[in-house]
Amino acid sequence: MMIDLRRLALTYQSPDGEIEALRDITFSMEQGEFVSIVGPSGCGKSTLLSLIAGLETPTAGTIEVDGERVIGPSPKIALMPQRDQLFEWRSIRDNVTLGLAVRHQNTPERRAQVWELLERYGLSEFAAKRPSQLSGGMRQRCALIRTLATGPDILLLDEPFSALDYQTRLSVSADIYRIIRQEHKTALLVTHDISEAISMSDRVVVLTHRPGTVRAIHDLGALRTLSPMERRDAPDFRGFFNLIWKELDVNAQ
Ligand code: ADP
Ligand code: MG
Repeated sequence: MMIDLRRLALTYQSPDGEIEALRDITFSMEQGEFVSIVGPSGCGKSTLLSLIAGLETPTAGTIEVDGERVIGPSPKIALMPQRDQLFEWRSIRDNVTLGLAVRHQNTPERRAQVWELLERYGLSEFAAKRPSQLSGGMRQRCALIRTLATGPDILLLDEPFSALDYQTRLSVSADIYRIIRQEHKTALLVTHDISEAISMSDRVVVLTHRPGTVRAIHDLGALRTLSPMERRDAPDFRGFFNLIWKELDVNAQ
């Protein structure tokens, strides 16, 4: 298994007392799999990604990546944050290579690989531009390439499209989907958008209200072979949407 979570729990200690964020989370992911996590706001989705990224320590339970216990950050795993966090005073090229220096990977080979990614995904001609000169969709692509630059096997994406308007979100999510598939990455996407989860992933994990526990796991079956755009028109799409909608129990919030 690429990712193996067993009875994972995390309770935050804060000045106001304890906050139980996650309880008894168990699921695994295979290499190359794309899994989405949906759940109500505040149910511990970002916490779960922080745990897998090795940025938080579980209160109970275990996390294994590629058969090894996660005890801290690892180059195998990259977290793409909610905001693109591009630096305005740096060019696109310098933004995407930023992680290399931090990880002591700033070699000519690595820089050439990053350049190849910029070319393959249509950003090389914007290399000298500043982030503000790019569209929202291109910024997101740029943020993904920066995340890919250090060569991780696993991508953790925390609501990466939430700042984009609806039309842009559709095309950017299709774009990001294609890049993740072509680069053969294992991906875990957090989203509050049920349609987005169904259109991008192989399986959808539904979490309950805080403390987040696994409410259901859906294998999207035949949809898995379709592109995000094709899925939205497929007959199974509505069925999964209604099922997950009920499980999220939106009215109970
Ligand atoms: P989600 O991403 O699903 O919206 P989070 O994982 O961000 O939820 O947060 C889960 C719960 O834990 C929330 O109640 C949040 O306020 C709380 N929380 C998150 N981070 C911390 C922290 N560092 N210290 C204390 N409480 C936190
Ligand atoms: Mg969050």
